[in-house]
Amino acid sequence: MDQPLLVDPHTEIREEVKKLCARFPGEYWRKLDEQRAYPTEFVRALTEGGYLGALIPEEYGGAGLTLSAAAAILETVQAEGCNGAACHAQMYIMGTILRHGSETQKRTYLPKIASGELRLQAFGVTEPTSGTDTTSLRTFAKKEGDHYVVNGQKVWTSRAEHSDLMLLLARTTPKDQVAKRTEGLSTFIVDMRASLGKGLTIRPIRSMMNHNSTEVFFDNMIVPAENLVGVEGRGFRYILDGMNAERLLIAAECIGDAKWFIEKATAYARDRVVFGRPIGQNQGIQFPIARAYAQMRAAELMVQSGLAKFEAGQTPGEEANMAKMLAADASWAAAEACIQTHGGFGFAEEYDVERKYREARLYQVAPISTNLILSYIAEHVLGMPRSY
Ligand SMILES: Cc1cc2nc3c(=O)[nH]c(=O)nc-3n(C[C@H](O)[C@H](O)[C@H](O)COP(=O)(O)OP(=O)(O)OC[C@H]3O[C@@H](n4cnc5c(N)ncnc54)[C@H](O)[C@@H]3O)c2cc1C
Repeated sequence: MDQPLLVDPHTEIREEVKKLCARFPGEYWRKLDEQRAYPTEFVRALTEGGYLGALIPEEYGGAGLTLSAAAAILETVQAEGCNGAACHAQMYIMGTILRHGSETQKRTYLPKIASGELRLQAFGVTEPTSGTDTTSLRTFAKKEGDHYVVNGQKVWTSRAEHSDLMLLLARTTPKDQVAKRTEGLSTFIVDMRASLGKGLTIRPIRSMMNHNSTEVFFDNMIVPAENLVGVEGRGFRYILDGMNAERLLIAAECIGDAKWFIEKATAYARDRVVFGRPIGQNQGIQFPIARAYAQMRAAELMVQSGLAKFEAGQTPGEEANMAKMLAADASWAAAEACIQTHGGFGFAEEYDVERKYREARLYQVAPISTNLILSYIAEHVLGMPRSY
């Protein structure tokens, strides 16, 4: 499928990732889906290829690539029918350490994250009671001498069982003692290997797709003070700083999903013969696929626009949010068209359509739901009053 740029600077990366993905066909993902198992071999292959360390600067052992290169990697993974959700966070969670961590933290963690020796792909933000209202989260880290004592709970902490470290957002000053609700939250690097069974409990959540998500409980868990990232109380700002990059990368994944669905639907529409002619000859079959393609291409331009702004050192809040929403909508439209085109076979596991369909639905809700993006646009772009 065409790329939107006249000259795509990442054709080589796309080709290489495509070759890697060819080693992990639908059958591989189907089996994992059935067992809700983790794609260890796939993640190992991406790690060894250096792809998950794409955004880590060379001086810390990474590939030092641009955000658009990382987006090309994740888009290709999805377009080839694989699932980057198993490890995409290894690419971007480290950004908080890179931007706000001490030099010691950077030297300690980044080279090992780049090599895959350490996995930092668990991100503990969402809590059961606060949900999207992040600043109301209740997990509390109390400073006691040279360490913090953490109590609370997270939910939907993906990949916690397949990660060595977690980036945790917790309150360090009660909400009623700060001038602004965004203050008094702090970010920590939690060594889950050291804490498991010592104040840290992880419980898997079985969900509609194979996402390895969990709930995590903290019961007097000790975190050394040296694991605080940046300045105490400024953690919410640090998390926000990383959100544009995360949203653009997720949007790129949605573009990849849309491409997969469109390719699959088109091929089936050409081949499947009913009433003595290919079903793709009917406009009722063609139009939803064509519309999804147009939606995908438009969303792709928004992703490119956000990436360009990011790489020019500007803040692409508007573009990153819109790209995430439009790309998730495009992938969902393509998923709908694809399953409908396949008729009954769309529901059969061996076609992979139903699995991808379940996986694609997530991005209407996570990492940020469509309503909250619309709310961002209404308030921050269009200047309407804050609604919540
Ligand atoms: C599979 C999966 C993996 C995830 N992985 C992670 C992870 O690794 N780490 C992590 O921290 N979180 C993770 N999440 C959590 C995810 O980010 C949240 O589910 C998401 O942000 C929505 O929060 P919530 O589920 O609490 O919904 P709620 O906040 O309860 O919202 C429910 C619905 O109400 C809407 N809503 C809420 N407030 C408003 C408003 N003011 N105006 C209009 N509509 C509103 C929302 O849009 C949503 O549709 C994951 C979630 C899932 C399902």
